[in-house]
Amino acid sequence: MKAIFNILLALVLSLPVYAQNLKATTYDFPDSVDTSSREIELQKKQIFSDDEGRVYATNNFPAARLNDFERVNGRFYNAIIKAENAPINNSAWYAFKIWSGEEKNIWIRFLYEGGSPRYIPKLSSDGENWQPIDSTRFTFVDDGSAMMNIDVSSDTLWVAAQEIMDSYRIGKWCEGLAEDKRVDFKSVGESKQGRELFYMDFKTGNGKKKDIIAVFSRQHPPEVTGFKAMQAFLDEILVNNQSAAFFEKYRVVVYPLLNPDGVDLGHWRHNTGGIDLNRDWAYYNQPETRQVADHLVNTVAKSKARVILGLDFHSTQEDIFYTLPDDSDSVKSVIPWFKRPWLDGIEASIDNYELNEESSGIGQPVTKGWFYTQFAAEGVTYEVGDEVPRVFIEKKARVAADQMMKVLLEHQE
Ligand SMILES: [Zn+2]
Repeated sequence: MKAIFNILLALVLSLPVYAQNLKATTYDFPDSVDTSSREIELQKKQIFSDDEGRVYATNNFPAARLNDFERVNGRFYNAIIKAENAPINNSAWYAFKIWSGEEKNIWIRFLYEGGSPRYIPKLSSDGENWQPIDSTRFTFVDDGSAMMNIDVSSDTLWVAAQEIMDSYRIGKWCEGLAEDKRVDFKSVGESKQGRELFYMDFKTGNGKKKDIIAVFSRQHPPEVTGFKAMQAFLDEILVNNQSAAFFEKYRVVVYPLLNPDGVDLGHWRHNTGGIDLNRDWAYYNQPETRQVADHLVNTVAKSKARVILGLDFHSTQEDIFYTLPDDSDSVKSVIPWFKRPWLDGIEASIDNYELNEESSGIGQPVTKGWFYTQFAAEGVTYEVGDEVPRVFIEKKARVAADQMMKVLLEHQE
């Protein structure tokens, strides 16, 4: 009886440890940003009908953005693209479907309210397989608009700034990965509008006390090329010939879709709180940053582990790695020996490739600095160019994963 009592007592005493709900620490970054919620404008979902010209366009699907569509005259149309609010980074996302009662050739002028063109249109007949438009059929115009020439017919044509990778498609991709017994997939919370915050845990065994690599993506909805790099990077970790040895020592936790509302609403940049989530890693005013930060902090505590590396996948005009300064007095991560051989290894493994890196210290409340201030982890923003050929995005991401595993496994404590 005494023994049972003692066991029960031990269980009760151990409960608070497992029921703990830690909060990510706040941190006053040198360049603070006000991330309290602001109003956004929702686009009206509709079919735009030009009955006379028999041309129709719609924004009635996830990730769509087409704020207005009208015939100017003859076969010339205007497509109006607006951001969710302002001020905002110029990432003028658009996505719509278009069809016609008859086969014809039309011109569409993109008019960007509060921005200018950034993305070359990608076309698809099924929403899954995409090709960039022929370069002779699209041009940026000096007045800040852009002109596109397309053939329309009764077959629906998808036109989008980048391949559509919405929350449904991302969930399906995660489910596919989770067929691997090393991958767990679940939701760790909800966005402001109630969409799931996806989470994947790559590990063998219970993962306890293994050093953690944290992977983030899609804080910024249009940044599909960064997401594609993350997909190849994660796939490589699972199939690489170093995988077994890697998972003996390391664990990878993935938050692949930090801004599901922004993605599904076709936003240029922000969440439905009207905020750039990658400025909210100081006080976590937005539900997406709050929940992901707390979940990661609790995951680390429960497994008595540490985060050694944080990788946040984004897109911009060109490929670049934003890093923390090399081993210095002001910033010294728990793996100061990692970054240099990793980046050098990537560069050396790709023919005729010059790696682009820019280092800076802790400034605005972005994830790169947060990985360091919260965990003393190495923080890297993995940026992929908007129009980089997709085969190269995949190739480089696989090399980056291979070299990461190599450097981590070769290091002797
Ligand atoms: Zn970004």
